[in-house]
Order: sequence, then structure tokens, then C-alpha cells
Amino acid sequence: LSFSAFALSPALLDTLTSLNYHQPTPVQAQSLPAILAGKDVLAQAATGSGKTAAFALGLLSNLDVKRFRVQSLVLCPTRELAEQVATEIRTLARGIHNIKVLTLCGGIPAKGQILSLEHGAHIIVGTPGRVLDHLQHDRLNLEELTMLVLDEADRMLEMGFAEDLQQIIDAMPAQRQQLLFSATFAPAVKKLANELLHSPQEVII
Ligand code: AMP
Repeated sequence: LSFSAFALSPALLDTLTSLNYHQPTPVQAQSLPAILAGKDVLAQAATGSGKTAAFALGLLSNLDVKRFRVQSLVLCPTRELAEQVATEIRTLARGIHNIKVLTLCGGIPAKGQILSLEHGAHIIVGTPGRVLDHLQHDRLNLEELTMLVLDEADRMLEMGFAEDLQQIIDAMPAQRQQLLFSATFAPAVKKLANELLHSPQEVII
């Protein structure tokens, strides 16, 4: 199986080739058709599975670069993971010009983030507490969001982010695509998935 089997743009296919990503990993092969078809996805995938590229290719495919508004939000449990995810999105986006990816994580001063938010972004990657803080101060607007990704959802719930997640979700349009990635399907993850996702495609690796 090659990436050209999927409905990816020539720019993304060229970037995958230049990165030596010749074959989709199992989580990519099983989730990309549903992601590119606009469906909700519930995927059990650990670190190292290639889950980041799976959702990154989806959100880059959906993006309208000309519309300079926050269109995708990726929520991660930790700053370290958020930085890694943002790096991978930027790498995969290098054939698409003028995409702005912004990280909003706790543990660092908000000042630089506030300035960056004033300049705008297409994609936000962040941790729930800090993203909610910016929302509550009207520095972040999610009214034109089309895609939400919850990465390592089990860890976010373990860290007590359920309430923050709910408040962030309440600020989004009802019509949106949602991808939930988790290493485990613990009961709390199942409950969140049941409340949030609409007829999701389930991917279990
Ligand atoms: P992740 O599970 O998202 O943390 O990804 C694990 C690593 O696999 C990352 O360093 C990616 O750059 C790499 N990777 C993702 N997809 C592929 C692929 N299809 N072929 C080769 N490497 C990949």
C-alpha cells in the first residue's frame, strides 16, 4: 500500500516522499480513508504508531489556507507532546505555503502567545488549561473551527482535564469533525468518545 492510494494532494504526497514515508503505518492505513472522508474517528494508537501523521495529514487536507482563521485544534496532555505534534505538522505542511501553526501550552509565559494570537493562525496545538485560559480571555476564537483532535485522550483525562475539555468544546461550532486518539480505551475514554463522537470509525491496532 502506498500513500498515493489516499485522496491526498500532490503537495502532501511529494512531502511524504521527501521524508521517506513510503508506506502508511497501520494506524494511518486504517484511519486515513475515514479522516479524509470527513468522518469522526476513534483510534487506539500508542506513541510510535504514526498517529501524529495520521491526523496531521487529515487536518492539512481539510485546511483552507486562504481563510486565515483557526480551523483546527489539537489538544495534547503535555507541552512536550504538543511541541512534537506542532513540529510534525509543520514538517508535513512544508509543501503548502503560508500555513500558520501555533502552540499554546502551559508552563511558559502567556505574553508571547497573546501576541501570536493577535497575528492569527490556521492550526492551534496546545494543552487544555492554557487553551481554555486564552478562550476565557477572548484571545482565541474557535467559531470557525472545523476539526478537533484529542491526542492521548487517556492521559488528558488521567491528568484531570475533563472539565477543561468540555468548556473548550462548548466554544466550538456543533458542525465539526473530531478525531480521538488514545493508547487505551479505559472506561473514561469510552465515556468521552460516546458523548462526543458521531458514529465514529473505530480503529484498533
Ligand atoms: P508518532 O507515533 O506519531 O509519534 O510517530 C512516530 C515516528 O514515526 C515519527 O518520528 C514519525 O516521523 C514517523 N513516521 C510516521 N509515519 C511514518 C511513515 N508512514 N513512514 C515512516 N515513518 C513514519
